[in-house]
Amino acid sequence: MVIRVWGYLDEYAAEREEILDAVDTVFGSGRLVLADGVRSFEEEFAARHGVRHCVGVDNGTNAVKLGLEALGVGPGDEVITVSNTAAPTVVAIVGTGATPVFVDVREDYLMDVSQVASAITPRTRCLLPVHLYGQCVDMAPLEELAARHGLAILEDCAQAHGARHHGRPAGTMGSAAAFSFYPTKVLGAYGDGGAVITADEEVDARLRRLRYYGMEERYYVTALPGHNSRLDEVQAEILRRKLKRLETYVADRREVARRYAEGLADTELILPETVPGNEHVYYVHVVRHPRRDEIIDALKDRDIELNVSYPWPVHTMTGFAHLGYPEGSLPVTERLAREIFSLPMYPSLAPEAQDRVIEALREVLKTLS
Ligand SMILES: *Cc1c(COP(=O)(O)O)cnc(C)c1O
Repeated sequence: MVIRVWGYLDEYAAEREEILDAVDTVFGSGRLVLADGVRSFEEEFAARHGVRHCVGVDNGTNAVKLGLEALGVGPGDEVITVSNTAAPTVVAIVGTGATPVFVDVREDYLMDVSQVASAITPRTRCLLPVHLYGQCVDMAPLEELAARHGLAILEDCAQAHGARHHGRPAGTMGSAAAFSFYPTKVLGAYGDGGAVITADEEVDARLRRLRYYGMEERYYVTALPGHNSRLDEVQAEILRRKLKRLETYVADRREVARRYAEGLADTELILPETVPGNEHVYYVHVVRHPRRDEIIDALKDRDIELNVSYPWPVHTMTGFAHLGYPEGSLPVTERLAREIFSLPMYPSLAPEAQDRVIEALREVLKTLS
């Protein structure tokens, strides 16, 4: 049997009754849009983070976009972020009319915060750290810069549900934080979903308007921009049930990571490292090897699927050519993109399947050296 890099069917088999109950609850409620499910999920997700406000939206990309707009970002502004991220982070910035400004990352894949100060210009409005792969960017220097220059911080938490940074939950360290509930994420829906959390009441009010055509009241547009970006009721009810299990999902992911660390410690693979102060949630399990393409092909022959997150740094894609970052401008990002690949990682990955991955990798690495 093929071992996939990610899969949800075993999880669905275990949680099927609850998931179907969520669907039935919504279908039988008589209210299909922005009703009890979304409201309850928002309360529960906010409470879990110890913040006052959560606004459910239709996906993570729009969580970033509406989050930026709610923080006052728009045309003419600059947002400092990384190119070493999922492209949607940057698509969302461009979608607000603002200009993304990239800094490089460190060997641990995370934003090199030491480069941010020199990227700040009079147009800078917001810093957008991406808590990549499941662990947090070094926040203290960003918080200090934001305070000094009067900037907002939007955390991209699409890969960091449940992660902590010096004890603080991911998503509680900036002005607002964007989450995705795309199925593969650490907290995943059965379809698309997203949310923005914030401690700021005005930001919350703007988000509610932004996701609802620019309306505060039905049929009356108070202010633009406006979008239709609501979290779906069915996904909200499913997410309420899955949120109760978030700690278990994270614990299972950590156990998978621990087994990889044990089984692959004496190989040439560069394994993920947790930065001191971080509690990693392993959204993906990214490793590194200069001959990554050969390894991926050899494992494919053994019915094991690997993945690359992400094969192209954002600034090198034709869709972002207008931003004017030539090849070579973000050297660490570009080098990492050539060597990284991800091993199968999800909470219900069976230990036997994982052993097969470890064995296959060990064999293939031996033939390469
Ligand atoms: C998944 C992801 C997004 C986009 O979320 P969608 O729900 O797919 O729109 C944004 N940023 C990062 C870092 C992501 O991993």
